[in-house]
Amino acid sequence: MENIPITDNHIHVDPFNGEGPLKVAEKFSRSGGKRMIIPNKPSWTFGEPFNFQKAIEQVLKYVDEINQNTDVKAHAVVGLHPAELSRLLESGKDLETAEKIIKEGLDYAQSLVLEGKAVAIGEIGRPHYEVSEEEWGLQNDIMVYSMELAREADCAVQLHTESSGEEQFKEFSLMAKKAGLKIYKLVKHFSGPYTDEKENFGLTPSLISTRDVISKGIKKSNYFLMETDYLDDLSRPGAVLGPKTVPRRTQEFLNKGLMSEEDAFKIHSDNVKRVYGIDDDF
Ligand SMILES: [Zn+2]
Repeated sequence: MENIPITDNHIHVDPFNGEGPLKVAEKFSRSGGKRMIIPNKPSWTFGEPFNFQKAIEQVLKYVDEINQNTDVKAHAVVGLHPAELSRLLESGKDLETAEKIIKEGLDYAQSLVLEGKAVAIGEIGRPHYEVSEEEWGLQNDIMVYSMELAREADCAVQLHTESSGEEQFKEFSLMAKKAGLKIYKLVKHFSGPYTDEKENFGLTPSLISTRDVISKGIKKSNYFLMETDYLDDLSRPGAVLGPKTVPRRTQEFLNKGLMSEEDAFKIHSDNVKRVYGIDDDF
């Protein structure tokens, strides 16, 4: 496994609620992990609701800390979680004002990608809980807006959405088309085993790395990414997979012959390079 740049495509670090960037990166590294793709957490997680600039700047700082102090290569993903819009509306903002505030935050995210400080816009998308029809419409408009920003910056988008299957993947692929974004640059975070192009419509699925999902996914194709969605939140232990999961799962699948070295290299190297255009030296 040494020559495979094991990558967790969606892992959070949070010194306010969890162990923070260095401890998480060290755990990841000790279990064989090489690269972390880290989206910023929402603004309320550090007690400053709607301070989007700070939420985004924090993740850039954590990525720097990891790159300077550990063997792990870290990359930032910057954006505004769909629940930020829900909370703005709950706080009494009207749709138009909320839209303007969210779009400004996303413009800032794009500027950082253009400066080379982040590799993608995300996690953006739409809520996994029920909302009003007006909000749903606006969430969808903002998704397309984010994809347009990504097309201009030629970068990827990490999507957070309701639990999705073929029908939703098809809808997202049409949104990407509308925005002019290359469909494979649209990454469905927290995906089930939708690795067949007939089910994912050309999106890149980022599989939640449980034994069940990876074993179903790898039977159909090796075109996917692997992630934990680790939250680094000590108040929610066991809410998600731990930081050692992606390296350990990959090793387990290699050992059992359920994944070839070639598959693992495709998943952790070629697919990452294709989506983000990054080529780290390991
Ligand atoms: Zn996340």
